[in-house]
Amino acid sequence: MRIDLKGLDAQEFEEWATSQGLDKYRGRQIREWTFKKLAVSFQDMTNLPKDMRTLLEEGASLSPSETVKIQVSKDGTKKLLFQLKDGHYIESVLIPERDHSTLCVSTQVGCAMGCRFCLTGKHGLKRNMTPGEILDQVIQVKRAMNEPERLSNVVLMGMGEPLANYNAVTKAIGNLIAEDGMNFSHRKVTLSTCGLAPQIKKLGKHITVNLAVSLNAADDITRSRLMPVNRKYPLKQLIQTCKAFPLPNRRMITFEYILIKGINDRDEDATRLVKLLSGMRAKINLIPLNPLPGLDMTPPTMERIQHFQNILIEHHFTTMIRQSKGQDISAACGQLSGEESE
Ligand code: SAH
Ligand code: SF4
Repeated sequence: MRIDLKGLDAQEFEEWATSQGLDKYRGRQIREWTFKKLAVSFQDMTNLPKDMRTLLEEGASLSPSETVKIQVSKDGTKKLLFQLKDGHYIESVLIPERDHSTLCVSTQVGCAMGCRFCLTGKHGLKRNMTPGEILDQVIQVKRAMNEPERLSNVVLMGMGEPLANYNAVTKAIGNLIAEDGMNFSHRKVTLSTCGLAPQIKKLGKHITVNLAVSLNAADDITRSRLMPVNRKYPLKQLIQTCKAFPLPNRRMITFEYILIKGINDRDEDATRLVKLLSGMRAKINLIPLNPLPGLDMTPPTMERIQHFQNILIEHHFTTMIRQSKGQDISAACGQLSGEESE
């Protein structure tokens, strides 16, 4: 097995260089080629002697995955299908906005959490992704963009539960925000979790990126029905953990709330949500459910959604309605399956 350089942190790059009989600064040079100059292969690394490039190529790899398909939605959203070395497929979604773009990346092949409304969850977990595979989505997309500098935001909201793959995910984030890595602002990276309380706590100690929590219900009965993870970490524990999460200045936790007709969209659900989040630095994203084939749930009417939003606004919560992008190419929230389809 060749070593995957995209999975190495700064120190490991130097150690690897030393293990190859090179000076440490060669490790730093190669790191720069990997994350900043987005080299495709060692042959691109023009400040390394030619025979060194060829030699290194035998033991190390710069390509843990391959882009195999790109679909473009009517609204400009792009869905990218990647194939990993062992044949598995994963997906990323590039969402263009007015003055920048956001990339939504996957962290696992599938997901074990089994949320009822989510297609990724339907297929179960195949395996965790490695740090190199997670980061390679960002590198490959940047490489393919006409204006790579537009890509300023990364959200870990694709396939998988990031905190169930904690070590790989935090390592990938490390390289994403490192100045000598991909140099993304930590304010522009968001990790979304279904609510693994102990890992949220651990994350707060290590990392300063944004936290989003998929809440989707404000009482335990409804939430456990929709999201089995709630039986393990019920709302009280989850909210307590969020309250204790260290937030840098003026930062807020985002709570995502999928609205499902007749299940969590009543006035009393909104009132409960207000109570649950009272006193927290929280903003709320309301997401109308994306219907999936075979799913016996539908989104409420826009009127109902706006009414729900008004209740939250009356209680001074910053609340946005987020229409999922890219529905026509199955790139919207909950629609990523990582399956090759026409
Ligand atoms: N596992 C993490 C991140 C990936 S899921 C998490 O659950 O947060 C990304 C987002 O898609 C979550 O907020 C989830 O609630 C949402 N989602 C899943 N299925 C959906 C659907 N059918 N309609 C709308 N949003 C959905
Ligand atoms: Fe997994 Fe998130 Fe989908 Fe739940 S919503 S099954 S945690 S990917």
